[in-house]
Amino acid sequence: MKAYWIFGIAMAAGLSAHAQECSVIVYAEADRMMPFGMLWNAELKSAAMFREIGIELRWRTGAVRANAADDACGAPIVILLGDTGSARVPPDALAYAAPFAQSGVCIHVLLDRVLQDRGSGLATALLAHVLAHEITHVLQQTNRHSADGVMKARWDRRDFRNMVWRPLPFAAEDVELIHSGIANRMLRAAAEE
Ligand SMILES: [Zn+2]
Repeated sequence: MKAYWIFGIAMAAGLSAHAQECSVIVYAEADRMMPFGMLWNAELKSAAMFREIGIELRWRTGAVRANAADDACGAPIVILLGDTGSARVPPDALAYAAPFAQSGVCIHVLLDRVLQDRGSGLATALLAHVLAHEITHVLQQTNRHSADGVMKARWDRRDFRNMVWRPLPFAAEDVELIHSGIANRMLRAAAEE
């Protein structure tokens, strides 16, 4: 299927004006040293990528706190950044997610692989895209990928070059699936109240 891109905020905002009345809460914690400011920068960049498609992402650190306002969009997404260690993952994977996990850490970012042999500009941009990609899996509740953009299964050299200058776009199909995923999370959260 051909991918159609969403350009510009106006169109995406129109699409989502009534869809989202909650913020997606994401906790991130690194279990090793990272270059100073890199995680913060990557978080800002990925939040901006989601904002382009009408999704508000709030980054948190520390222990996960439950409260009604935070949980309006469903349980917080919890991300652990660390080295690959003994994780059994394909050799070229940069992260893995458990989209169906109901609680606990649902995304693992393989920091050694993201940082390896890359300048800080690319490493930061790549980390932002890895975060956005895995959060999308969790919001969509699927392992599906798109032909291009944020949800491409494997970014190539050209994608790496491009993402340093401006974020890769979400395919239109992904925008729709993210919004319907959040709508489902809101319904479930409201039912649990
Ligand atoms: Zn993926």
